[in-house]
Amino acid sequence: MSVKLSLVIPCYNEEDNIEKLFSHVKNGLKSYTDSYEIVFVNDGSRDETAKKLKKLFSENKDSRITVVSFSRNFGKEAAMYAGLSHAKGEYTVILDADLQQDVKYVVKMAEILDENEDADMVAAYQEKRKEGKFITLCKESFYKLINKVTDVTFVENASDFRMMRRPVVETIISLPECHRFSKGIFSWVGYNTISIPYEVKEREAGETKWNFRKLLKYGIEGIMAYTDLPLKLPFYFSFVFSLVALVVLLFGEFTCSAVFFVGAVVLFSLGVLGSYVGKIHTQVKNRPIYIAKEILSYDKHD
Ligand code: UDP
Ligand code: MG
Repeated sequence: MSVKLSLVIPCYNEEDNIEKLFSHVKNGLKSYTDSYEIVFVNDGSRDETAKKLKKLFSENKDSRITVVSFSRNFGKEAAMYAGLSHAKGEYTVILDADLQQDVKYVVKMAEILDENEDADMVAAYQEKRKEGKFITLCKESFYKLINKVTDVTFVENASDFRMMRRPVVETIISLPECHRFSKGIFSWVGYNTISIPYEVKEREAGETKWNFRKLLKYGIEGIMAYTDLPLKLPFYFSFVFSLVALVVLLFGEFTCSAVFFVGAVVLFSLGVLGSYVGKIHTQVKNRPIYIAKEILSYDKHD
């Protein structure tokens, strides 16, 4: 039986949000459709999330609930990928578990797709960021940088909160890369995207999983996944450095600084090469993006 709408919900330590979220979704979708399924992905939570999801699954046999449980924490990117792979809906939306995103926007996105045959995806962007000034500044500079150095357009304020038609979902899950940066993937795949603003609510319970270190790592991941410019940097540096070497040669005392100079250049090039080789290494190993230890599916209720 076909399903109109799939909700993909990545969950990492969200024990106090699961039940509230479920009733919020149920109520919110009432006016739109009852042909929907919820795909929860438990991303190796260390709290009671697994238990709460299992309970929800067995107590709601008339709802279409799927629970994919990872063997450990693989990160939100992997969780979204797993969710999209299990979603069967004509439309699929990615929703956070912490109720920061109101289900009324899900309905709005679905209606936009209903009314616009040409639209393949509806992306929600945060109208007002509820974050500290420092993080906002970092994010702004990051988007400026990544848009300069890559061929893909990264939309600032874009979030993972978006609804896709089936072909978009199929395309996204067909990309096998293991260093996933969905904000890049979403724009790299193309398709017609309509953007709508949404207002972020406060997190219902628990706390955000992002800190500066994680964001920085995620940002570097994004840049490395979409450009090989760093690989070419040593070339530009070597050009500048040979000019400097020439000038130093003409004006005198240089032995000591030249040694350091050369050393730094070599180390830098090695570092850049190393990080790329590292990436090739992981991809070549062809590891799965996630490992599910258990999958509960509503079509297999006994
Ligand atoms: N999440 C996840 N795996 C992780 C980190 C986060 O599945 O390793 C989920 C989390 O449970 C939530 C969503 O991703 O449903 C967004 O995370 P969070 O609320 O921490 O991010 P923020 O809203 O602060 O950007
Ligand atoms: Mg959140």
